[in-house]
Order: sequence, then structure tokens, then C-alpha cells
Amino acid sequence: MKDCLFCKIVRGEIPSKKVREDEYTYAFEDIDPKAPTHVLIVPKQHIAGLKEAKSSDAEIIGRCHLAAAEIARKRKIEDSYRTVLNVGPGSGQSVFHLHVHLVGGRNLHWPPG
Ligand code: AMP
Ligand code: ZN
Repeated sequence: MKDCLFCKIVRGEIPSKKVREDEYTYAFEDIDPKAPTHVLIVPKQHIAGLKEAKSSDAEIIGRCHLAAAEIARKRKIEDSYRTVLNVGPGSGQSVFHLHVHLVGGRNLHWPPG
């Protein structure tokens, strides 16, 4: 998608602090972190969000979560992290390219706000 912020980040047209990359996913530091670890993991292909995802997107969405688990393992925060997908403006979704938030490294409250 030409004008999508996260597509531009994946293409390197907008700078980001890369955390991890593979053939299908790209992970980078959130610009406004809400925890000591706050990484965004996105599919390289454009998917607007979870509610727009198709069954053919199942594997890539799973890969985003597995990338989050790998990053958490490497950062040794396995006992205190959360993966979050905000869906729709009412949940706080502000970028309409599917992204998994990996948030961790501190105590996380439940239920989330
Ligand atoms: P959401 O509100 O779930 O759509 O999440 C969007 C996230 O993208 C927010 O946590 C923002 O801080 C983050 N964000 C926005 N622009 C950038 C950027 N240029 N680089 C890194 N993270 C960004
Ligand atoms: Zn996009």
C-alpha cells in the first residue's frame, strides 16, 4: 500500500529501529513505548487489521505472534509480557496495517484499560 505508514517502514522509506526481520515479518521499536519492551511486529504484506484478515492470512498472523515470543525470549522477559492487537478505533487502533504489540518488562495489569 503506497500511503500506509507501516508499509513505508517495511520498505525502509521511513526510518525505524529494527528488532527482527524474516521473510514474512518485520519487528521494530514502538516510537512511544508503554513499557520497557514495546515492539511492534507487522506482516510485510499489507493487511488492514484483524477484522479484515482472511483465512489465508492465518499463517502470517501466527508468524507475527511467534516472532513476538522469540523477541521476548531473547530479552528474557518471558514471565511478563503480553501480545496485543488493537482492533478498530474504539480500541485505540490508529494505524491500519495489522500489528502485534509486544509489551513487557514490567508488571502488567489485568484487565487492561
Ligand atoms: P495502534 O494504536 O494499536 O494502532 O498502534 C500504533 C502504534 O504505532 C502506536 O503504539 C504508536 O506509538 C506506533 N507508531 C506510530 N508511528 C510510529 C513510527 N513511525 N515508528 C514506530 N512506531 C510508531
Ligand atoms: Zn500497510
